[in-house]
Amino acid sequence: MTNAVIAGERLAHPGAEYASASLGQCQHCGFCTLHCPTFLLLRDERDSPRGRVRFAAEILETGRPPTPEAVRHMDRCLSCLGCSSACPFGVDHQRLWDESRAAIERAGVRSLRERLWRQALARLLVSPNWFRLMLGAAPLGRALRPLLPAQLRRMLDVAPVRRSPPRIAGARVYPAIGERRMRVALLAGCVQQVLGAAVDDATVNLLTRHGCEVVVAEGSGCCGAVPLHLGMPERAARLAAANVEAWERITANGGLDAVVVNASGCGTTVKDYGAMLSDEPRWADAAGRIAAMTRDLTELVAELPVTYNNPAEGMTIALHTPCSLQHGQGITRSPQRLLRSAGFVVREAPDAHLCCGSAGTYSLLQPEIADKLGANKAGALEIAGGDVVATGNIACLLHIARFTAKPVVHTVELLDWASGGTRPAALDSVSG
Ligand code: SF4
Ligand code: SF4
Repeated sequence: MTNAVIAGERLAHPGAEYASASLGQCQHCGFCTLHCPTFLLLRDERDSPRGRVRFAAEILETGRPPTPEAVRHMDRCLSCLGCSSACPFGVDHQRLWDESRAAIERAGVRSLRERLWRQALARLLVSPNWFRLMLGAAPLGRALRPLLPAQLRRMLDVAPVRRSPPRIAGARVYPAIGERRMRVALLAGCVQQVLGAAVDDATVNLLTRHGCEVVVAEGSGCCGAVPLHLGMPERAARLAAANVEAWERITANGGLDAVVVNASGCGTTVKDYGAMLSDEPRWADAAGRIAAMTRDLTELVAELPVTYNNPAEGMTIALHTPCSLQHGQGITRSPQRLLRSAGFVVREAPDAHLCCGSAGTYSLLQPEIADKLGANKAGALEIAGGDVVATGNIACLLHIARFTAKPVVHTVELLDWASGGTRPAALDSVSG
């Protein structure tokens, strides 16, 4: 395998050209390997970023169908981008992995069962209504568990037993309380609408109390990360374009200061809309504008004059910064800073740069690796100490909660409580 740039006639997708340039940047130095959760767990070069760069070259350069070996080791990649943070040569792993996954799907090398399962995930998880229906059927599924295929049994294993009623279902405007400082669009998302109503409650309460008008735009929904990471960029682009259109519409009708995202996995994707839609003449400019105005919730809160009067001053929080926040968006300190200024004692866990194993659909498709990484992360957070675990991404929150007895909450729930909002229900078992 070589680092040669992909020949033009072999390019099946325009984005592959950019990915091929990244291939040429890899010097095979291996600095990234010890930052890769799958290499640290499996100790196999083929499960390291360097090994995967070689597989990506094979997939993208040769034009031959990907081998089962290449598919197996690319599938084990979490897309956590720990490798990108560690790489001194600027290799764009995100684009490499996305293009490789898309090439694998286009080649049609998976079994029929696998293809159907991945198609089902790409359709069901992006629709809050379907997802809600699936969770509603979970009790029946648990009764029939032994009869179900392994994929559905895994889904039942990770599905929370309780779910909260939706807070931001449908388009709606939440007016600012007092003088309006900003008008922001909140990404409604998909899975979080069903499983993270408390997170959306806290977000809307915190922002409106501090002068933000919060708009959930008609037509906005899943960010597109689910199909993108399943190797379906066209479907991801359609979802991205729908969001861009919805937010452009509200920009034209009243202006917009920011798009705010309270799930860091989704934030990473929305901030990449400019690149995702760069080949779409109708959307490219607007997507670039939207990406530039997108903020993780912690970035936006840091800009607001929030006054804290923390009823649990001194409560100790073990913080997990999601890889989508630290590696995907380069935000490493703002959650700590905000929680500390709110009066919490914040402890970081050892190996805080490593992924918890959740990684979107990864925990469904690679259950053994996901569970080992989840248990490792929970163990590290135990070493950090504290009464409560906090994180900034619903998928990490739900995954880590399976491996720890401590309550796990979203950072915004703590910030909202500390600035006059309600105490998170998840803290009922915690004193203070
Ligand atoms: S650190 Fe960067 S250049 Fe070095 S092997 Fe990893 S990806 Fe390649
Ligand atoms: S994205 Fe994460 S799992 Fe994949 S190669 Fe990079 S560090 Fe390893």
